[in-house]
Amino acid sequence: MINFQELADQYQTPLYVYDFDYMTEQYEALKSAFKARKSIMAYAVKSNSNLSTIAHFAKMGAGADCVSIGEVRRALLAGVKPYKIIFSGVGKSDAEIKEAIESDILYINVESAAELDRVEMIAQDLGKVSRISVRVNPNIDPKTHPYISTGLHGNKFGVDLNTAKRLYLKANNSEHLDPVGIHFHIGSQLTELDPIREASEIVADLVRSLQVFNLELKFFDVGGGLGIRYDDEKTIEPHDYAQAILGTLSGLDLTIICEPGRFLTANAGYFVSKVLYEKKNDEKRFVIIDGAMNDLLRPSLYSAYHEIMTLKEGATTKADIVGPVCESGDFFAKDYELPELNHNDLVIVKSAGAYGFGMGSNYNTRGRSCEIAVQAGESRIIRARETFEDLVALEKEYLRA
Ligand SMILES: *Cc1c(COP(=O)(O)O)cnc(C)c1O
Repeated sequence: MINFQELADQYQTPLYVYDFDYMTEQYEALKSAFKARKSIMAYAVKSNSNLSTIAHFAKMGAGADCVSIGEVRRALLAGVKPYKIIFSGVGKSDAEIKEAIESDILYINVESAAELDRVEMIAQDLGKVSRISVRVNPNIDPKTHPYISTGLHGNKFGVDLNTAKRLYLKANNSEHLDPVGIHFHIGSQLTELDPIREASEIVADLVRSLQVFNLELKFFDVGGGLGIRYDDEKTIEPHDYAQAILGTLSGLDLTIICEPGRFLTANAGYFVSKVLYEKKNDEKRFVIIDGAMNDLLRPSLYSAYHEIMTLKEGATTKADIVGPVCESGDFFAKDYELPELNHNDLVIVKSAGAYGFGMGSNYNTRGRSCEIAVQAGESRIIRARETFEDLVALEKEYLRA
């Protein structure tokens, strides 16, 4: 068990704490679920992009799924092998495409016909061949939150089946494109198997229909999205997840690429904060803590539920847990049962390891929290707390009174 009080005393609050041993267990569970085939677990860097987190997975053999050239650079810096890096995203700039080709990553995941043309043009200018995959939008309802659903035609991601086929045939005839993979990612926080199986079936059929044109793809990229337990959600076991996918691939010789983010990192993370004040009126009890929406945006952005823990016992009453930022949307939980709390008592927000720190900002001129890794009973800083000087560094030299 992590000693949060000791960590808070040593590193101050607000503080992100990541259990790296838990990340290891999750990684190994998913990797071994796919052991019937060759596979690469391409860690979705955006879920927790700290260099030490990426390096932790890289040491276990992971690749990286990146959605900006910044993330590709992070992955390379953290020691991920270029041939295990994938670059996705609906809006890659020319400069990003150029750098991705020059970095010789595994493939660029193309999300539109126009983008395929850009990639071809840029590869031609460089005198190179760009490996690509096409992101297929299989028009499957993933049954998750609308903001994190990506596999419906109403979402901006990928291309429909007919377009995908056309793009593959075009790429196959190009001297500067090498279609090696196929990709789908229907959403995040998936808790049902049927949509995954259906999407996989549709995409596997497309792979088969391309074989008729002597187009043999090597990588079957199933995206990420495996859900986790924030509250009392039912979740999918890695074994069942892998079987649902592998069951659709009979007769196909493909390496599986999986892009887990949240599954590896969410429940490894804790956001540790201190009580500043309690305040009551005739309607509400507010617990005001030193962490805020600029540290952890998910409750404000998605009305996401996070379990909250304190180190106190005793009778509880309902409270809104809020931060110091000047927005009514600055809350972590509403009407949450909490014991009586005093100044400096800890309030710990669970499941904060994915889409936590990375979505943070400096709103209200608040420096970002310190990040700590805990591994084999030892703790270490993996990102220092931001200072006021860090926050104004890019403005100061332009300052005019
Ligand atoms: C965000 C994203 C992932 C990871 O999603 P999780 O829900 O965190 O597993 C994987 N692949 C792509 C293309 C993504 O955009």
